[in-house]
Amino acid sequence: MTSLPDIAANLAAVQDSIAAAAREAGRDPAEVTLVAVAKTHGADRAEAALAAGHRVFGENRVQEAQGKWPALRNQYPDLELHLIGPLQSNKAAEAVTLFDVIETVDRPKLAAALAKEMKRQGRRPACLIQVNTGEESQKAGVPPAEADAFIAHCRDEVQLPVTGVMCIPPFDDEPSPHFALLREIARRNGLPVVSMGMSGDYAVAVQLGATHVRVGTAIFGERPYPPKS
Ligand SMILES: *Cc1c(COP(=O)(O)O)cnc(C)c1O
Repeated sequence: MTSLPDIAANLAAVQDSIAAAAREAGRDPAEVTLVAVAKTHGADRAEAALAAGHRVFGENRVQEAQGKWPALRNQYPDLELHLIGPLQSNKAAEAVTLFDVIETVDRPKLAAALAKEMKRQGRRPACLIQVNTGEESQKAGVPPAEADAFIAHCRDEVQLPVTGVMCIPPFDDEPSPHFALLREIARRNGLPVVSMGMSGDYAVAVQLGATHVRVGTAIFGERPYPPKS
C-alpha cells in the first residue's frame, strides 16, 4: 500500500523549484508550464490536483485518458490535457476529441491521420513533434537529423498546428545535451514550445529552456504499476 500523497503540497513544491530554476537562468517563471502527469493514477488524484487549482495534465494512453478525463472536464471545463505517450494512427480520432495538445507526433502516417481527423471534427489540438534525441532504436520520435524536414512536412504540407517539440532523453544519459539539442531544434524552426524534463531532471530542463515540464511522480507519488513506454 502506498499512502496518499499531499498533492497540493507537492504541486506547490514543484512550482517553487521551477520558479527557482527559471530565475537562476534569468527566465520568467511564468514562461514555464507544469504538465502534471496523472497516468496510472485514479481520477481521485487528478481531482485533488484540480481542487488545488492545477489545470494542465498529461496522460500517456488514449484509452486510460478516455476513462478518466471526460467527467473531470465537465467539472473543470478550463483544464488542458496533453497526450505524452505514443499514438497509433488508428486512435487519431479519439486523440483529437480528447486532447488539447498532442506531444508525440513522429511519423508521416500519424500526421496525415491527425490532419484528416482535425478536418472532420473541426477541432485542432496543438501538435508537438517528438524527437528521439538519443537515437534509441526502441524509442518513439523522429531522429534529430530528420527533425527539420519532418517539422516542415507537418507544418507546411499536412498543415498541422505544430507549436513545438518534445523529447524523452535516454534513461541512463546525462539529460543536458539532449535538452540543449531539443531547444536548438525548436529555435531554428521558430517553434515556441519546448517540452522536456520529468521528476528527476525538470529543474535542469527549465535552466536549458523548457517551456513545458512533464512531472508525475514528484506530484502524485510512485505509480501503482510500471508505465508502458
Ligand atoms: C511518465 C512520463 C513522465 C513523468 O515521469 P515522472 O518521472 O513520473 O515525472 C513524463 N513524460 C513522459 C513522456 C512520461 O511518459
